[in-house]
Amino acid sequence: MDYRNWIRDIPDFPREGILFRDITPLLGHGQAYKHAIDQLAEQVQLWAADVIIGPEARGYVVGAPLAYTLGLGFVPVRKKGKLPADTTAVTYDLEYGQDVLEMHTDAIQPGQRVVVADDLLATGGTMAATVELARKLGGVVVGAAFFIELLPLHGREKLSGIPIHTLVQYE
Ligand code: AMP
Repeated sequence: MDYRNWIRDIPDFPREGILFRDITPLLGHGQAYKHAIDQLAEQVQLWAADVIIGPEARGYVVGAPLAYTLGLGFVPVRKKGKLPADTTAVTYDLEYGQDVLEMHTDAIQPGQRVVVADDLLATGGTMAATVELARKLGGVVVGAAFFIELLPLHGREKLSGIPIHTLVQYE
């Protein structure tokens, strides 16, 4: 299945010069969405994960159905101040400025095998911060799964040593 048929290119969003790869048509097409999740799940199963972690918000529409399909737990990573219990935080660099991601401190047990999931791998900054959160709690990151990879941004380099699986790659 060529998922590109359900990924819409929006030029200059959220600002000039960015070509936004919009997955909402794929999410809106039941068969394509299910196919994409099932295909990622096949790979994730090989990594023998205990838990899936995804950053808000589009990491949830990939990570949660992956977790459900495989009968695993799902751990949400959120922006600062959104999670109600004790959290651990990681600050990471954006193109302009910094941002903070948080995870509940009891969300992962030391030694658990973790797979991180998101819709798209661009520079890898978001996922590197998510990986750092998992490792702070003693998680062993055994893989990273995405619908889309933007090859020119070399996000893989920020996730070195972690097996990565993506369904669609753009030059
Ligand atoms: P990065 O941290 O640079 O790898 O960016 C990854 C996050 O930003 C993902 O959660 C994506 O949803 C979003 N993102 C970055 N670039 C794009 C793009 N060109 N189109 C759609 N989403 C993007």
